[in-house]
Amino acid sequence: MPSTMASVRECPSCALEFEDTGNVKECPYCGYEFPQQRDSIGWIAWLLVLLLLWPAIKGLMYLLG
Ligand SMILES: [Zn+2]
Repeated sequence: MPSTMASVRECPSCALEFEDTGNVKECPYCGYEFPQQRDSIGWIAWLLVLLLLWPAIKGLMYLLG
């Protein structure tokens, strides 16, 4: 799918396109509820940050303890 029309989103359930106003939570045609990607991405981002910082945290605890 070319992303030339950024304001149009395709429903993965019924494959109909509709206007994406930015906070569409469900398909206006079939009522398909879109997964809230921001929440899961944020959770994964926090997990990655924690994993990246873990050696630094361990080193800091070693220095302090
Ligand atoms: Zn739909």
